[in-house]
Amino acid sequence: MPVKFTKIIATVGPASISSEVLEGMIKEGVNVIRLNFSHGDYPTHATTVERVREVDKKLGTHTALLADMQGPKLRVGPMAAESDLKAGSEFTIHVGTEEGNSSEAWTNYVHFAEDVKPGEPVLLDDGKLKLRVEETNGKDTVKCTVVHGGILSSRKGLNLPSTDISLPSLTDKDRADLDFALGLGVDWVGLSFVRTSADVIDLKDRIAKAGSHARVVAKVEKPEAVDDLEGIVEATDAVMIARGDLGVEVPMQKVPMIQKRIIGLCQRSGKPVIVATQMMESMIESIAPTRAEVTDVANAVLDGADAVMLSGETSVGAHPIEVIKAMCSIVMEIEKEDHIFHRNMAFEDDRPERFVTDAICYNACDLAERVKASAIVTMTFSGYTAYKVASQRPKALIYVFTGNRQIMGQMALCWGVEAFHYDKMISTDHTISDVKTLLQRAEKVSSGDYIIHVASMPIAEAGMSNMLKISRV
Ligand code: PGA
Ligand code: MN
Repeated sequence: MPVKFTKIIATVGPASISSEVLEGMIKEGVNVIRLNFSHGDYPTHATTVERVREVDKKLGTHTALLADMQGPKLRVGPMAAESDLKAGSEFTIHVGTEEGNSSEAWTNYVHFAEDVKPGEPVLLDDGKLKLRVEETNGKDTVKCTVVHGGILSSRKGLNLPSTDISLPSLTDKDRADLDFALGLGVDWVGLSFVRTSADVIDLKDRIAKAGSHARVVAKVEKPEAVDDLEGIVEATDAVMIARGDLGVEVPMQKVPMIQKRIIGLCQRSGKPVIVATQMMESMIESIAPTRAEVTDVANAVLDGADAVMLSGETSVGAHPIEVIKAMCSIVMEIEKEDHIFHRNMAFEDDRPERFVTDAICYNACDLAERVKASAIVTMTFSGYTAYKVASQRPKALIYVFTGNRQIMGQMALCWGVEAFHYDKMISTDHTISDVKTLLQRAEKVSSGDYIIHVASMPIAEAGMSNMLKISRV
């Protein structure tokens, strides 16, 4: 498996569901497998999970599973072939399920006519087509004018960037999908079209009530979410910069700076952050990415993303394994740059409940830099110290030794972290020498290397981290 800090997420689909391709992708550097609940039926998702677990067993890896909920994604219904919308002409959208044509379409979003107001834009097919609302009867019919025309085909997405949508972030379909996904034991749940921190808190409640330990990835792809970023980052466990819908919902030229702002916020709060969508888009067909795509992946690593994500490239693309190889080679090239490390070193002491742990984590990274340590080991049950240490981007791989199997998969999303199962509680001295032996046996460190240990003493109390130690292999 390639040794790198930045994680790679691959979406599974028809192109990658075979055990051979899954194994190939994981061997080439995939850390997280994304199940996209906008597509695929339950048996297919269950098969994917089973196969990923088999590959993990064979390779000794801990691949994370991310179940991505569709959320309130609006779409038009079926469309007649060659439905061509002409700029300047009238176009009517009805609520219902009939087949559309060049002058009208149907949407199954029942509150459509209630929610929109005259003057608001309606974007179709990722914003390729644009309409302006002229009038609505408030019930089931909305008259629009075509601003940018083009061919509209069946079931294309419909975005309403200026409209207050009355749908909840978790639709009826999502609720059923969530129960199913939690039953599969996924590590992360993606929440689409998040608008406020309350959306995230509601999902977390549901997950907890279901008795699951899955964590939440808030997908930022609505202008309301961009307005409440601080609140959302605080409430969530991780963030995805979902640039596909985001670039339709806000002017696309705003996406790059939003990306940088979200990454900065997440790093300061110790929350993993994912850059997603169109990263290697041309490789859905081509065998090599464009130079612009290479630079986009490189910039995400330079910005400090925990993970970079592939969607169509691995789910329906022609080269699912080649795209991982290409992405991994870009990531590893950029990780040769010294200045990407030790970046978030401003120590904030504004959280009294975590003050001691935060101080230990901060100094672990400082120490790692001074002695050029090759590993930072944290003993953790919740994973908190791993997220915290990782957020400082030390130039040492972070090994989590934990008795909590539930966090092992979760760690796969976090920058620079790898998890080992460990539940011996004899003494701190015993653990430190054990950890050294285990890391050496796994060829993670070699003779002469320095290791920084973060733990809590006395070990049996499993309290907050209060100990920092340097050892030499
Ligand atoms: P999606 O989310 O693939 O579920 O739409 C990602 C995005 O919008 O970029
Ligand atoms: Mn999206």
